[in-house]
Amino acid sequence: MSSRALVLFSGGQDSTVALAWALARFDEVETVGFDYGQRHRVELDCRTVIRGKLPALSPLYAQRLGSDHLIDLAALGVISETALTRDSEIAFAETGLPTTFVPGRNLIFLTFAAALAYRRGIRHIVLGVCETDYSGYPDCRDDTIKAMQVALGLGLDRRLVLHTPLMWRDKAQTFALARALGGEALLDLVVEDSHSCYLGDRSTRHAWGHGCGRCPACELRANGYAAYLTSPDDSGPSHDT
Ligand code: ZN
Repeated sequence: MSSRALVLFSGGQDSTVALAWALARFDEVETVGFDYGQRHRVELDCRTVIRGKLPALSPLYAQRLGSDHLIDLAALGVISETALTRDSEIAFAETGLPTTFVPGRNLIFLTFAAALAYRRGIRHIVLGVCETDYSGYPDCRDDTIKAMQVALGLGLDRRLVLHTPLMWRDKAQTFALARALGGEALLDLVVEDSHSCYLGDRSTRHAWGHGCGRCPACELRANGYAAYLTSPDDSGPSHDT
């Protein structure tokens, strides 16, 4: 029986590598993205570009890359735009998190992805969350995802497996994984076409890709790429569980 997976694909660096990881393992891979009025919604355009370029990188990708689903979650945008109090606005400014940050966002994404997977008869869900470069998102933690797997399995009365191939990789190891999975061509695609910058800035091209170069997401990506160049081998997760 062929194996099928659904990848939460935002157009960011991590979800692009997670998609390549899934394409190496599953016979058919579908993708889902969410439009919630994110400030960095340029990443939605990156999704289209990356999906368009992947089939040319490998016959396997061409064969396995299936449908794309874009789900409108405008309600999340309402929360992020209007529900921010003055106090929390200052707190966000201090942490460097984008003010469009929605608490528990991944819990909502996973619930929609699971409902979609159910309808599509898909058992495996892949997401590029990571707690190694902890950026202040508690819904990216391994325990959160494991708890969601249990809750979704019970709530849908169907066993779903949530895969998080990047959970214990830092950004340098994620670049290394891209190269291990798809060579320089995939690495180039990740650098050139995936998006990380919170400000949605793609006007400047750095060695590590496009971005403002100053926001926390850009800093993480720039530092990770520099570390990757120093140690380019995919040594696997720094912490195995
Ligand atoms: Zn930036």
